Amino acid sequence: MPEGDTVWHTAAVLRAGLAGKSLTHCDIRVPRYATVDLSGLTVDEVVSRGKHLFIRIGPASVHSHLKMDGSWRVHPPGGSSRAGHRIRIILATADVQAVGIDLGVLEVLDRASDMDAVAHLGPDLLGDDWDAGMATRNLTAEPQRALAAALLDQRVMAGIGNVYCNELCFIAGRRPTSAVGSLPDPARLVRRARDMLWLNRSRWNRATTGDTRKGRDLWVYGRAGLPCRRCGASIEMDPTGDRITYWCPRCQR
Ligand SMILES: [Zn+2]
Repeated sequence: MPEGDTVWHTAAVLRAGLAGKSLTHCDIRVPRYATVDLSGLTVDEVVSRGKHLFIRIGPASVHSHLKMDGSWRVHPPGGSSRAGHRIRIILATADVQAVGIDLGVLEVLDRASDMDAVAHLGPDLLGDDWDAGMATRNLTAEPQRALAAALLDQRVMAGIGNVYCNELCFIAGRRPTSAVGSLPDPARLVRRARDMLWLNRSRWNRATTGDTRKGRDLWVYGRAGLPCRRCGASIEMDPTGDRITYWCPRCQR
């Protein structure tokens, strides 16, 4: 599932492949933008904000959001893609082809105002302008709110998806349904969130435990019924809400 670190890494890959180069081909398979042709223009920069991506090309900005299943692939031109009908956009230069697959959001914006699309977001956990103080104030603004709901709210801070949400609840010793106001040290949890995404931003195999080996990489997410790494209790799961939650019944209150 794409979270802020995946999007940051995707932006880096797109930047390395496209930035500074002229587009030789542009194919946008969204009816509203089917006639938009950016070929001949130069890709100036690729920017990520939270879980949003912007590819700035001349006067345009291609805004995408990966949502649940989206991805961008960068590879040499001409190679056939197995994605077929799931392809939403192809941007090609003389030596590289960037293909957007199953993108949850894809729109072509005016570059001058593209950041309006993310004006509602809280501080970006991987942004140059990351503001831990503001993120902490946002997180604690509604003390009665469930911790998981607050962590997933991109207006609080941008970049946390459901994996990090569950892992952060474990690290805080609080259940996903616990009130934010029960956190002993909200500023510390915000720091841990930043550290987690920062450490994982340049790799695809995400780890929150400090051990990137498969099966040892997460504390609770996806581990229902397995023993807690810290205390051995069986990890519990609730699949009934908007997002699945996982927690240790002994370590988390
Ligand atoms: Zn435990």
